Amino acid sequence: MAGIDFQALPAADDVGRDMHELVRELFPICRSITGNGLRRTLELIGERVPLEISEVPSGTQVLDWTVPQEWNLDDAWIEGPDGERVVDLRDSNLHVLGYSVPVRERLPLTALKEHLFSLPEHPDWIPFRNSYYSPNWGFCLQHRRLVTLPEGEYEVCIDSTLEDGSLTYGEAFVRGETEDEVLVSGYADHPSMANDNLSGVALMTTLAQHLAGMRLRYSYRFLFSPGTIGPITWLARNEERLGRVKHGLVCLCVGDSGPLTYKKSRRSDAEVDRAARLVLRDSGEPFEVHEWEPWGGDERQFNSPGFDLPVGTLTRSAPGSFPEYHTSADDLDFVRPEALGASFHAYMSVFDVLETNATYVNLSPKGEPQLGRRGLYRSMGAGPDAGVDEFALLWVLNLADGEHTLVDMAERSGLRYAQVRDAARTLEAHALLEVRA
Ligand SMILES: [Zn+2]
Repeated sequence: MAGIDFQALPAADDVGRDMHELVRELFPICRSITGNGLRRTLELIGERVPLEISEVPSGTQVLDWTVPQEWNLDDAWIEGPDGERVVDLRDSNLHVLGYSVPVRERLPLTALKEHLFSLPEHPDWIPFRNSYYSPNWGFCLQHRRLVTLPEGEYEVCIDSTLEDGSLTYGEAFVRGETEDEVLVSGYADHPSMANDNLSGVALMTTLAQHLAGMRLRYSYRFLFSPGTIGPITWLARNEERLGRVKHGLVCLCVGDSGPLTYKKSRRSDAEVDRAARLVLRDSGEPFEVHEWEPWGGDERQFNSPGFDLPVGTLTRSAPGSFPEYHTSADDLDFVRPEALGASFHAYMSVFDVLETNATYVNLSPKGEPQLGRRGLYRSMGAGPDAGVDEFALLWVLNLADGEHTLVDMAERSGLRYAQVRDAARTLEAHALLEVRA
């Protein structure tokens, strides 16, 4: 049970700064659930980790859905009665309703307003809106701007294309010793917003980079795809091999200053659910654990009853729970390098539990083995937490009856998982313990 080599990992602050740089690089790209912005994003990720790209043609039937037409956007603006540009895509790619059909027309303000979206409660922010599956066009703008628009004739232009093409997704695969997989999935389709969802894209990329080269029990698959339709497409195309997915995490909103938050899988007591809870408990920081519910992000597809994969969601502030969510205020200042770095270490810690968790057998189960004779009592009285590791040795010996895993032991003893894991390693080295065959 090698586990994650934490000594080989960079410090949280350093890795957080690197991730923030990647978020900054990807931020300006105009992305959607299909199209060249998504392709360019995957291309830039592919410069950091080997990525296998799939293109699935528009019209392909995937489960109960159909791969939509491909959308690309070149330009968009609104000109006011005096010829002044009142909205311009060049200022923010949130200005255009995602999947807007092409339009070029003149219309009075009252008619235009049916196609304008704003946030009265946050008048300086631009909202993020889409119309993926029903044809429409529209603009999103600051409410403060909207209320100052004078009456009169406006000219609108959305230079977009919506035609047969393909849906793109990318997979980074890190091979371990077995074909059993840990699946980490995040959507990569949002335009310029940093926490939702570039923080997740940056974290998945960085995790894949650092896992490569480690000795791992599991193989790790990182799926970068458009929200909802991406996982549905991937599931439809990989149905025969889903038995390999032993654990999974959906990765998004990992860069804000909120506490780490884990949403359980539909099964609610899967190994990944318990591993994530232990990692948050052991962090010493505030955290939240939420029960499963069938809304949110891509976890909805993995946890649908026909698949019921053990896939939880590990975020900081839960998606939708912060006011900046799906607005222009989810910007480069909203995500913090130190939060990104701490999220990186939390994910690695969950992987470490999954890598090292096993069921153990005490090889000297009748009475306590004499630890002093083996030098295992040497830490007694040697420091403020000297007794703790002995507690861990005694807990592990006591629960290693072939029925309990290290996760069981950490939960039941209240000891940190790392203490229990290290105690098991020590006892194994002294031939007092072995993994149940
Ligand atoms: Zn979102």
